[in-house]
This record gives sequence, structure tokens and C-alpha cells, in this order.
Amino acid sequence: MAESIELPSRLAILPFRNKVLLPGAIIRIRCTSSSSVKLVEQELWQKEEKGLIGILPVRDSAENVSASPVIAQGGGTDPIERSSKLHTGSSESPKLVERNHQEVIHWHPRGVAARALHLSRGVEKPSGRVTYMVVLEGLCRFSVQDLSTRGTYYTARITPLEMTKAGMELVEQDPDFISLSRHFKATAMELMSVLEQKQKTGGRTKVLLETIPLHKLADIFVASFEISFEEQLSMLDSVDLKVRLSKATELVERHLQSIHVAEKITQKVEGQLSKSQKEFLLRQQMRAIKEELGDNDDDEDDLTALESKMQNAGMPSNVWKHAQRELRRLKKLQPQQPGYNSLRVYLELLADLPWQKASEELELDLKAAKERLDTDHYGLVKVKQRIIEYLAVRKLKPDARGPVLCFVGPPGVGKTSLASSIAAALGRKFMRISLGGVKDEADIRGHRRTYIGSMPGRLIDGLKRVAVCNPVILLDEIDKTGSDVRGDPASALLEVLDPEQNKTFNDHYLNVPFDLSKVVFVATANKMQPIPPALLDRMEVIELPGYTPEEKLKIAMRHLIPRVLDQHGLSSDSLQIPEEIVKIVIQEYTREAGVRNLERNLAALARAAAVKVAEQDQIVPLSQDMHRLASQVVENSLAGGAEVEMEVLPVGVSQHEISSTFTISSPLVVDEEMLEKVLGPPKFDDKEAAERVVTPGVSVGLVWTTLGGEVQFVEASAMVGKGELHLTGQLGDVIKESAQIALTWVRSRAADLRLASTEEINLLHGRDIHIHFPAGAVPKDGPSAGITLVTALVSLFSQRTVRADTAMTGEMTLRGLVLPIGGTKDKVLAAHRYGIKRVILPERNLKDLAEVPSAVLANLEIIPAKRMEDVLEHAFDGGCPWRQHSKL
Ligand code: ADP
Repeated sequence: MAESIELPSRLAILPFRNKVLLPGAIIRIRCTSSSSVKLVEQELWQKEEKGLIGILPVRDSAENVSASPVIAQGGGTDPIERSSKLHTGSSESPKLVERNHQEVIHWHPRGVAARALHLSRGVEKPSGRVTYMVVLEGLCRFSVQDLSTRGTYYTARITPLEMTKAGMELVEQDPDFISLSRHFKATAMELMSVLEQKQKTGGRTKVLLETIPLHKLADIFVASFEISFEEQLSMLDSVDLKVRLSKATELVERHLQSIHVAEKITQKVEGQLSKSQKEFLLRQQMRAIKEELGDNDDDEDDLTALESKMQNAGMPSNVWKHAQRELRRLKKLQPQQPGYNSLRVYLELLADLPWQKASEELELDLKAAKERLDTDHYGLVKVKQRIIEYLAVRKLKPDARGPVLCFVGPPGVGKTSLASSIAAALGRKFMRISLGGVKDEADIRGHRRTYIGSMPGRLIDGLKRVAVCNPVILLDEIDKTGSDVRGDPASALLEVLDPEQNKTFNDHYLNVPFDLSKVVFVATANKMQPIPPALLDRMEVIELPGYTPEEKLKIAMRHLIPRVLDQHGLSSDSLQIPEEIVKIVIQEYTREAGVRNLERNLAALARAAAVKVAEQDQIVPLSQDMHRLASQVVENSLAGGAEVEMEVLPVGVSQHEISSTFTISSPLVVDEEMLEKVLGPPKFDDKEAAERVVTPGVSVGLVWTTLGGEVQFVEASAMVGKGELHLTGQLGDVIKESAQIALTWVRSRAADLRLASTEEINLLHGRDIHIHFPAGAVPKDGPSAGITLVTALVSLFSQRTVRADTAMTGEMTLRGLVLPIGGTKDKVLAAHRYGIKRVILPERNLKDLAEVPSAVLANLEIIPAKRMEDVLEHAFDGGCPWRQHSKL
């Protein structure tokens, strides 16, 4: 190519900003500036024969130019006006330096002559500006002698830099050049093969290596790489063929390296991507191979075990079909796939549930059941009778849909233990589900499996644990369930307790019906009121009111103490708690309706005793038996000729005394001293009421709480004020109204009651009244404090104290009638517990006393009241002196 090209001595120069056109390279450029458009127009477009132009690299003025030779030309809008001069410096590179204020153009001193292969002209709309698209081919290097402007563009006087033919022949003889060529060829060959392999182009490109001279090929190769401007310039400057070849070899090698590195990275990434797919395929293959060999891995072993467990679970057919479907789905999943584990846990539950497995029903022996109830529980005659009736019906008609028994009463009265006795009598397993605080329906019915962390409800979970389908299930504290936004547990319980519906109980998690009809349900509650009526309707309520101190004593002596001793590894030989001590515990340490705290206190005594007994155990006990044994050993040893060290005993000490110095022959007996040491000082005494009513304005009431009956003091106080009534003690609306009624009644009867001298006098004149119900942290409500409030107010206004031995309960109307109240039995028992001697009750509540044990009634004077005056008559010492004045 270059050999046949005759370069003119002057060439129009197209500046190439930060780029180099190397010989052999083809580029396409778009000319838009006025000077370049002019150049193309005059030098290429208008000439018939496509002419040559020079491409001269130009460096941006911002670039660091210190290292490279430059031709500087003052730039402006109109190059004609500026003259350009060639400066030939001392070095090979000429320097043309002309500055103006705006721009310095750094021309490179060498360029490449180029031929236009294609030209196209365009006119931009709407400006009408002419642009050219030019395809140029680099031909050969030249060096610039001088640079001047012709019209709007530059021209340069040039000298060609390509070698002559003779020069070429000479160089080709050079051994250095030969070895360099060989090296370049080999590297270029390698690059070609790599590229061909990648692009699958066959061996066509390799032909180039054979046909084109190597020094040209060097330019062509380098032109195709993405290399820096500096490297391009240095390639352009490599006029010497050896230098050019060695530079090109270096660049080709570098390119090869980068291709190899890029390939490695791609392979790595591809490898990672397909790893999981590969694993999957390998697993499938492994599974197939193992199947062929009849060899299952652990996971499959597990699944087979699960399947056989499911088969043996005795599921109903519809459930079995569903379970099989789910199992098939599980088998298709990989253990690491999401959903595998949850599905598996679900199937395990299906397999574990007692679909048919039941405890063997014993032939119900009513006599034995009665005996068992009697041995486990003292008293409770009516309750036990009702339980026996219940069992008798079950015996005659095992599938009878009797009501669910619900034991209602304060804590510690034996509700749970009665339920477990029922289970024992029926020979069934017993399970307790605590419903206290359950507000979420899902607690009973479970969460749907679509939720993360979903679980079955308490019933299904309990049945899985108990592993039989006919246990006795105790629904404990059924009155403590509440409903909120998360649904209503009571509605789920309705389904559980309804014999019509519980055959197909639907747990959301289980999602298949489960038959609960074989389960015997028993419920417990502290109060009846909070139980939703629909639920209450399904149950038969059996009330357990609480025990009298005498009953508690018997329960303690017969049941609690033996059980507590046994639980602590003691016996009556090692610890004895006498009746008097138990009585003290009942009266001074516990004041409860049930026996839970009593049991707890007895357990505390047993624990303290256990420590003592365990300590003494460490001293070697030498009882008489031991003594005999010891002398035998001594004799045997002597017979054997062994030497024995013998203890010298003081003369005159009897055999009995010796043994008793080493043994604890007598059991530990709890006395008052030990009692105080272990349980602390007494917590309650009978003097509490007497101490609290020493000032006028305090009366003693009886209330009913979830813990059973309680004594409640009412305190009234007057102070300077504007006639207002203040109430404190966490009171509900009903009790607040009772206080208003009480005050109104007292004010309206002030004269009759001799609280004021005339009817005109306002009792509240210049003063406020404050009524407080102590134990301010406990919420209180209900109408039964009516008469107690009036008594407190009368005591306050009359400045007379009420009787400390008298407690009262009753609702009062505005006109002073005393109305009946609930919980009579519990309240009377509470009064008895507190050591109260007289109880004022609404007359219409007298019938309720039939339920109160006669032992309690024997210790109490019950005073019926019809009107408020009856109450006042008995509440104060010496009766009611103002009675004759009453107009009522
Ligand atoms: P609840 O369920 O009513 O709160 P528990 O059934 O847990 O009460 O009873 C508390 C303790 O008191 C248990 O150890 C129970 O055996 C015992 N207990 C309650 N009443 C009696 C009774 N009448 N005879 C014997 N032990 C009783």
C-alpha cells in the first residue's frame, strides 16, 4: 500500500483531538466545525479523484504536555488572520509556538496521511448547516515541517516517514528484526486462534498473517486495541520497524493476557450460577441410582417411616386421602426448599394425633369411684354425690350427651383435683388446658398454615401430647377468657363443648375435622358471671363455696400433711405437725376460702424440717440394731485375728443412753417457735376488726370476690367544705351510686336519727364527706355495700363507733328497704374466718344459709334485716336509741 503511494509535499491537515489514526486503520468521522467542513469540501468532496489529507493528533490543552513534543498554534475564530511559523527545534521534533490569550493547540509533530473511502453530505435542519460523514483509511506516517492556514483550515508541509523498498530489504536481513518478526507472528497467531475460538470464525483471519507485511500488521493489530492516547502516540512515533514490532508484540501479549483473565472470571461466575442446578441434577441422579439399587438414604428412610406412621394412625378415610396428597407433595420437595419443613411438621402432627387410639375403658365401678373420691377429698358431700350421678349415667349410656360439669369456686377448693379424680375413676388420661388470659381464638383453634410459625390450637396440641382420643380434659378458668380484635375464644369453645358440633371440630391449622366427641370435658371457673351465657348453657355448674376452719383442719390433717410429707421425702416418723399448730396456721397465717395457701405453708414447714433431718442423717446413726451389728463385726474381726481399736465407755452408762446419744429416735415436732421461725410473725388476727372500728365513721362490710368472700371496711370522714361527696378506692359506677343513695337517705333522716336537731338543718352544711374503701388497688363494684355505707355515715355523724364484732351486707333502696344480695354463703364463711360474731343479712337471704355448714352457723349470730333501721339497731352498741323518733 504505502509503497505505491506518492505523498504530495503539502497536505490539508485535519486535527484529531486526543486520538491517533494509525496506518491500516479505518475510521468514520463526522465533520461539523466550519474549518473541517471547509477542508472536506475543498480537499475531498469537490475533487473528482478522492484526494489525500493528513490526520494530525492534537492534545487537549488541559492535558499534561511537558513530556511530549508539540507544535503550538494560536487558535482563533479566523486562522487566516494569523500567520504560522515553523520553528525547528534542536530536537527532532519541531516546535511551533504561537500563543494568544484564549487557546494553545498542542499539535503532535507526526501524523498519518489518510484516504477517504466514503463521503456523505448532510444538511442539518432548520439551521441549514452542512456536515460531512467521512470514512478514512490511514495510509502512511509523515512528519510535519511547517503548519500554515489556508482559508479556514490548516495545511502542512510534510516529509513521508515510510521506508523505501531498498531500506526495507536491508532491514529484513537484520537478525534482530527476523527474531522480532517471529516473536510477533507467534503472538499474533495465538491471539488470532483465541479470537477465532471465541467467535468461531474458522481459519480465515489467519490468512492475513501470511499476506500482509508484518510491520503493517503491527499497526493494524494495535489500531484494533483499546489503548491509551499516549500508547497510540508512541506507536505512531515508532518509525523504526524493530521498535514498532517490539511495541506491537508487547501490546498483543497484553491483550492476550486480558482475554485470558476475562475468560477465567466468566468461567467462575458461570460455575457458581449453575452450581445449584448441577446439585439438583446430581441429586436426582443419585436418587435414581439408589432406587435402582434398592438403597434409600436417610431422608427417604424418614419419609417412609413417616408414611408408615401415618398408615397406622387410623385416620378416617377422608383425612387419609388428604394426608396422602400432602405426603406426595412433600416427596416432590427438596429438604432445603422452603415449605418442606413446615409441611413435614404438619404431616407428623397428622400421624401423631390419636384418631382412634383410646385408653381402654374400664368397666366403671361406682363403688370404687366413690371410695376414690372419698379418699382424695374430705367433705364436699353434695359435689361428690353429683359426680357419682354423672359417672352412673355414663356407665349406663356411655355415649350420653350429658352436660359438661363446671366447678365454680374460689382458688384452692379442690376443683382441679376433683376433675382429676373423675379421670382416675373412669380410668382415662387427664389433661389440663389453662384458658386464663386466652383472648385469641387462634389459641383454641390454631392458625392457618399459611401463617409463618403457625401452630395447632391448644386442644389439638393437647390431644397430640396425651395421645388418646378419650381423655378427660379440664378447661381451667373458663371464666377468664376474653374477646378482642383477635376473635372470640368463647365461640370456639362453644363448638368444642357442643356434642352436635364437636364430632367435626375444625382446627385451622389441622384443616381436617377431628372428632372430639369421645373426650370428657370438665370446666372450672372462679365466677359464674363472666362466663358467656351460651357457654354456661352447655354446662352444669357445681359450686364449691370454700371451707370452714374446721373443715380446713380436717383436710390438712387427713390429706394435705401426708401428701406434703411424702412430697418432701419425709414421714410422720420424722416430722409431726400437731393439730394446734395447723389451727394457728389456718387462723393466723391464711385467710382464704380454699386450702392452697394452707398447703403452701405446710410445705414450707416440711421443707425446713427436711433440711434438719437431712443434716442429722449425716451423723452416723447408731441404733440398737446397729450396735448389735457392730459388736458382731468386732467379734468376727477378733476371730480373724485382726486388731480392733475399741472405744472405752464410761462405767455406769446404760445401753439405752449410749444409743440415744447417736440416734434421732423421736420425730421433729413443729412447735410455735419453729412456726414463727419458718413462716414469720402471724399475718392475721381476730383483732383486726376491733382495731379498725375504734373511730366513728368506720363500718364492717362483707363482699364477694374471685377469691371467695372477704371482709371489707368502709371509712367515712368529714371535713370543712362545700357539701361535696368524695369517693375513693377504685369504685365502679354501681357502688358510687350506692354511696349517693346512702348519703341521701342519711340526710333525709337526719332529724329522726338525732343527727340534727331539726329537719331544716343541712348535715353537709360547710363540710365535705369523703368515703374510702381500703385496699385501694383492688377494683370494687356492686350494690351490696349499701347498708354498710349508711352505717358508716350514721356512725360518722353521730360520732358513735359501730360494733367490731358485727359485719353486714345488703343493698338498700332510696326509701331504706334492704334488698337481697348474692354470694351469701361465701360472705358468711368469710365473716367466720375473720372471727366476726354477728352478721347482718337481708331477710330474704336467710334461705341461702342452708348451704352454710352448721359448724359455722353455730359460731355466728345471724341478724336478718328488712329495713335500714333494723341494720342500725344492731350495728351500734346499745341498740338504736333514736328508734322511737322514727316516723317510718
Ligand atoms: P382449685 O383447682 O380449686 O384451685 P385444687 O384442686 O388445685 O384447687 O386444690 C388445691 C389443693 O387443695 C390440692 O392439693 C387439693 O388436693 C387440695 N384440696 C382441696 N380441697 C380438698 C378436699 N376437700 N380434700 C382434700 N384435699 C383438698
